[in-house]
Amino acid sequence: MSDVEHWIRHGVEMRRPLLVKQSLSQSEKVIIVGGGLSGMSCAYRIAQKRPSAEVILIEKSEHLGGVISTWTEEEWVCDLAVNATRAHPAFWRLVKDLNLSKQFQPSRPRAKSRWVLLGEKRHRLSPFTLFKIGPLRLLRAIRGGRKGGVSVAQLLPHKQIADALTLGIVNTTSEHVDADFLMPSMTRFGPIPPLKNSRLKKQIKATYPLFTPKKGAVASFEGGMYSLIDALQNQLESMENVTVITGQSAESPQSVASQFDVSLDSILWTAPVLETDRELTKLSVFAVGYRNEDVAHIDYGYGTLIPDASIPISGILHESDLHHSQRAPEGHRLFRIMAPHARWDGDESKIEESIERLLSGKKPVIFRNLGVQTIPTYPPGYMQGLSQKSIDCSYAGWGVSGVSITHVVDEAERVAELF
Ligand SMILES: Cc1cc2nc3c(=O)[nH]c(=O)nc-3n(C[C@H](O)[C@H](O)[C@H](O)COP(=O)(O)OP(=O)(O)OC[C@H]3O[C@@H](n4cnc5c(N)ncnc54)[C@H](O)[C@@H]3O)c2cc1C
Repeated sequence: MSDVEHWIRHGVEMRRPLLVKQSLSQSEKVIIVGGGLSGMSCAYRIAQKRPSAEVILIEKSEHLGGVISTWTEEEWVCDLAVNATRAHPAFWRLVKDLNLSKQFQPSRPRAKSRWVLLGEKRHRLSPFTLFKIGPLRLLRAIRGGRKGGVSVAQLLPHKQIADALTLGIVNTTSEHVDADFLMPSMTRFGPIPPLKNSRLKKQIKATYPLFTPKKGAVASFEGGMYSLIDALQNQLESMENVTVITGQSAESPQSVASQFDVSLDSILWTAPVLETDRELTKLSVFAVGYRNEDVAHIDYGYGTLIPDASIPISGILHESDLHHSQRAPEGHRLFRIMAPHARWDGDESKIEESIERLLSGKKPVIFRNLGVQTIPTYPPGYMQGLSQKSIDCSYAGWGVSGVSITHVVDEAERVAELF
């Protein structure tokens, strides 16, 4: 494949370094550690590309999917982590290859609006948001970002807007987040595309199977994100050259190499990266449902980000507004609440008080604490560090690829292309 073809296939993902040893592709036995979306997609793409290779996937828990999990109760459906995907042809290709096209649909156009709570006021995010930052200040900051290693707070010099963005994506405030990792195109990290950006975008757009996504739109699965995991698991179980082992925790790449009698060259580690000094952040996820008439005053939309640290909630997502498939019983709306542990002490009555103020004074018909999620941190300089890292075995997954599912799914294709 030529450089141009690679860029058309992977887009700006080409700016991200691959932490994969060239020798991995010579292995006849590939051991993949971690059965989240990354490990599963890598197993699928490698086994598909090289039918003669034996692929073994090891997962420490009893089920696959990692952080992806969908809660259901009667007709309520809510994802605990990712609920929808932004557009990327690699993700569309995966959906097509798994025959999931009927269950995969674009988000509802009427749910496009996203808001940020600035003080007591909700501000709708749009190109005019730039005026809140100040176009000249922003331009200067973007130019400064090109030296690399800066934080998102430095790149977007409006503390609340920058915090709202990073809290919504990585559950921490903007001074702690690497701008190269979150927005490599904006900081111009990594290789330069061989085509003009507009031409590249046009060519990428023409490669989407199933349907071409509209600008800014997201898409999701009927039944929630776990539908994807179910289909991937079925696919892996049907492949003769794949073995899935659950309930086995790998201690280290060395221990896995010795257990399976292979060299470190054959190990692909997609579980959280083994660095004891790497901080993780936690957040709790709540599903809150109301009767339509009790939340009629709330505009239809994608959701609201809340940078104000005195409120224990960092985001409210309008689940039933967004998805095409049903997330709430007829006549009801479902909201997903994010409560970062850096702001919330575990007292549920504080969440109830906040939703009463932010959503509705009426009592919700359902209020469920869905559990805790753990998010990796990506401090400033993280991406520069990654690109210079010397590795003992190959690494993939959201610890290294980027935080979203499009990053891990595209990374799996890039890894398999080496085979
Ligand atoms: C709350 C939340 C919201 C999110 N929202 C979005 C969103 O809106 N859009 C988006 O695109 N992405 C979102 N994401 C990110 C997305 O979910 C991740 O990018 C993706 O699921 C990561 O997959 P992974 O396989 O890399 O990691 P994981 O899902 O963490 O999988 C790693 C796997 O490794 C296993 N493991 C760990 N240690 C070992 C060991 N020693 N031996 C064997 N196995 C081990 C774990 O059990 C786990 O199954 C969100 C994530 C969270 C938590």
